[in-house]
Amino acid sequence: MSDPREEKTLAEQAPASYECRVCGYVYEPAKGDNKSNIPPGTPFTDLPKEWRCPVCGARTTQFVNIGAKGVPSGFAENLNYGLGVNNLTPGQKNILIFGALALAFLFFMSLYALN
Ligand SMILES: [Zn+2]
Repeated sequence: MSDPREEKTLAEQAPASYECRVCGYVYEPAKGDNKSNIPPGTPFTDLPKEWRCPVCGARTTQFVNIGAKGVPSGFAENLNYGLGVNNLTPGQKNILIFGALALAFLFFMSLYALN
């Protein structure tokens, strides 16, 4: 006996975002649509036919699939923050780069001070 909710979970693992071709609004499945009582985690394909763009009122046929990669960059960053562990690597990289720059600057200044 298969649980229908299991299939839904699989579909939600990589939900595609859809962009309104009229106004540029992006429907993100992870956020849903508060205005139309669409709960977070609802795939675009599961939206009711009556659903309209909350910004300009365009029909769902006016939306194009921009894929999971098409979401704004801030969204992916937020996901990393949520996972926590993945956030360490870019954070450490930034510290390393900044530290190296600071050390190089201090080294340059000490040479300059010696002269
Ligand atoms: Zn729109």
